[in-house]
Amino acid sequence: MSLVGGDVLKNYIGGRWVVAQSHKIPLPVENPGTGDVLAHVPCSDTRDIASAVEAARDAFPLWARTPLPKRLSFLSDLRDLFGAHLDELARLITIEHGKVLHEAAGELQRAFENATKALDVSALSGRILPNMASGNITEYERREPVGVCCGITPFNFPVMIPFWFFPYALACGNTYILKPSEQTPLAISRIFDLIHEANFPPGVINLVHGDKNAVNALLRHRVLSRVSSVSSSFTMDVIAKKAAACGKEYQCQGGAKNSIVVMPDVALETVVPHIIDSVYGNAGQRCLAGSNVIAVGDIAGSLQEALVARALDLRVGYGLDSESMMGPVISHKAKQRIVGYIEKGIAEGARLLLDGRNCEVPEYPNGHYLGPSIFGDVAPEMAIAKEEIFGPVMMLLRARNLDEAIAMINMSEYGNAAMLFTDSGSAAAQFEYETACGNLGINIGLPAPVPPFPFAGMKGSFRGNLHGQGDDAISFFTNKKVVIQRWF
Ligand code: NAD
Repeated sequence: MSLVGGDVLKNYIGGRWVVAQSHKIPLPVENPGTGDVLAHVPCSDTRDIASAVEAARDAFPLWARTPLPKRLSFLSDLRDLFGAHLDELARLITIEHGKVLHEAAGELQRAFENATKALDVSALSGRILPNMASGNITEYERREPVGVCCGITPFNFPVMIPFWFFPYALACGNTYILKPSEQTPLAISRIFDLIHEANFPPGVINLVHGDKNAVNALLRHRVLSRVSSVSSSFTMDVIAKKAAACGKEYQCQGGAKNSIVVMPDVALETVVPHIIDSVYGNAGQRCLAGSNVIAVGDIAGSLQEALVARALDLRVGYGLDSESMMGPVISHKAKQRIVGYIEKGIAEGARLLLDGRNCEVPEYPNGHYLGPSIFGDVAPEMAIAKEEIFGPVMMLLRARNLDEAIAMINMSEYGNAAMLFTDSGSAAAQFEYETACGNLGINIGLPAPVPPFPFAGMKGSFRGNLHGQGDDAISFFTNKKVVIQRWF
């Protein structure tokens, strides 16, 4: 694909793979399952960003005027090429990210659904009111593209998350620049090979690799119009503030601390596999992952026993090995952060029921593996119950009733997701009304909205108004213009 000078990735600007102009030392891209360096990613600087923005700016007028069916035909070709390369892309995701192969395939499925949903731009058709005043006056709304848009995306879903944004932006007639995670740039670079093959006009969609300096250069660029980002909440606030200060509209998704409430009326054998998948899928590196498990009433003891037993069965290993059920975490640094939280939990007085720290995968001694960990006796005010750990660690808390469980959830500064397992419709109704989170699961461990719905966090998990995916994306990527018209 886009490798140069041995193993340094190229940027894709103006319809060509180009060497980054920046002289900064490229960053290694590691296979977290083996510790091998796979490639290096350039730290693009203001010159690289300027080239990408200029290419996107120059391509905009023609792309915006390209008839909608023609624009959609490029996206449809890309969707078909994407569909023909799913196996190859899944392997690339597993190699650069660590998640097991079927999780990588699941990520691609959701990206594919977004590529398909973006072909349905019925939300682009504005409203019309004929004869709304005497003199045969007609009033109507036009949706117009906004210009050059950009996406800044995280490591944990290297392909799916860019697809929450760019297909919609392009369908609406905008041009685009993607700055993917510097930790997982390979699969998305391969997607840009497919974009090239789909023959998009030069400059319509561009890829610039780099770290936060590339993001800063993008945000400061005068021409850029809209910013979509997905990141930790710290980064979210940095990006949202800079975007606002530079006069850009933004939609910035942030971090999470999600709770799963378990009512005493559930059948444990049914719900426990869903809780385990929620907490340990993707090695806990999902923004919708369960982290705190709140047992309501007298189910706490048997729930704890069943969760520990099931977690012990999880086979940790290299993502490409068919027997692996949980892969490594993304990096040595991430592993150290997660181990730091386990040490903090012990120091705070929580009881470590299952310790994943000494997990070894003998064939891959340099991989960043952690086994599943479980803390019991966790109090809501402990750091491990409040802060995002983003790794395979479960906290068990207790509540006397649903009111108390919901109060614990609503104390959180985050508001991304919350899940309830119950057999009671009234408990579900109360949970739905009173829980302050953007994504709710009722007997669902991972409430990930399908593309017709917006992907919507709240509170400290989101900055902006319009969310990613679906019709919200169409609104975000268009300006509304109202025309009032009569003819004499
Ligand atoms: P991150 O914040 O380290 O990086 C995300 C992106 O922001 C990368 O492209 C990175 O280069 C850039 N970036 C990092 N620091 C920056 C800074 N100071 N200024 C400008 N740009 C900066 O996040 P990550 O570790 O890649 O991803 C994990 C985080 O993303 C978790 O907190 C997770 O909850 C969150 N996430 C949220 C959602 C959601 O929908 N809310 C989805 C997936 C991941």
